[in-house]
Amino acid sequence: MKPPPFEYLAADSVDAAVQALADSGGDGKIIAGGQSLLPMLNFRLLRPSVLVDINRIPDLAYVRDDGDRIRIGPLTRHHALETSNIVATELPVLHEAMGYVAHLAIRNRGTIGGSLSHADPAAELPMMSLLLDARLEVQSLAGRRTIEAQDFFLGALTTALEDGEMLVEVNLPKLRKGTGWAFEEVARRSGDFALACVAVTLNADGGKISDVRIGMMGVGETPMRATEAERLLAGQRYSDAVVAAAVEAIRVAVEPNTDLHASSAYRRHLVGILAQRAIAKAWDRAMEAAHG
Ligand SMILES: Cc1cc2nc3c(=O)[nH]c(=O)nc-3n(C[C@H](O)[C@H](O)[C@H](O)COP(=O)(O)OP(=O)(O)OC[C@H]3O[C@@H](n4cnc5c(N)ncnc54)[C@H](O)[C@@H]3O)c2cc1C
Repeated sequence: MKPPPFEYLAADSVDAAVQALADSGGDGKIIAGGQSLLPMLNFRLLRPSVLVDINRIPDLAYVRDDGDRIRIGPLTRHHALETSNIVATELPVLHEAMGYVAHLAIRNRGTIGGSLSHADPAAELPMMSLLLDARLEVQSLAGRRTIEAQDFFLGALTTALEDGEMLVEVNLPKLRKGTGWAFEEVARRSGDFALACVAVTLNADGGKISDVRIGMMGVGETPMRATEAERLLAGQRYSDAVVAAAVEAIRVAVEPNTDLHASSAYRRHLVGILAQRAIAKAWDRAMEAAHG
């Protein structure tokens, strides 16, 4: 199908973009990479009165090292994140995740701002923003505000962005030196959305697990943190029994859907396997870093 009719406006500044969104009375949509928006238009799932193109706004695509944090512009393409030395060095788990986002042609156009705002429950960047405790900076005519990633994803394709708001920066704390990390995903084919995915970061302090974070996706309406499993692991010496308890807590916490691709029971089983692998791999990396 073809998209329904819409007005088109190429904004030359963030101020102009948020003004256009305000003028549309909640009926306008930003277009960034167009990789999710265009299919939605073609299927007539959306009928915006105006598309506000942000691709010509200068200085919206960047990855900046800002001391103990990394700042990422909303128009940064997936491929730029995938090939960023700053990301590879400071946020290696994000670097690894980027190779799983769709196909190279889509990664050349798709943007971090588009992926987070679209909020697909099986998309890598929303989960990574949750795992890494990102702060999302948004702007509207009313000014700027910060939304923590944990408050941003409200449901499938639903975020805390209000009408007239544009995501203008993603701000992430660097991982501590020596942090162990792992990213484990299963999709039916390379480049497909995940059936289930688990990412872990942790440290090995004095032989015990610390600062553990576990992110999951594909097993609920939004990406999730495995808070009970994190609690069970924190402060423990690594052992099969401790990991098994965390895995069990994860399987209890998730409520995956059954769809064309996999049953709920299969996804629940799978997320446990992925968690077990990811925790083990992250621990090995943390121990390796601790003992040189
Ligand atoms: C075949 C296929 C496979 C894919 N597989 C995957 C996958 O495995 N994993 C994955 O993560 N993604 C996947 N994607 C999606 C891809 O990553 C998209 O690029 C991404 O989800 C949207 O980014 P975009 O820049 O293209 O956004 P757009 O399509 O331009 O916009 C998406 C939504 O975000 C809004 N938006 C965009 N930018 C902003 C902003 N700065 N502020 C506020 N709202 C904004 C738009 O209004 C729209 O509602 C796939 C896409 C396709 C077509």
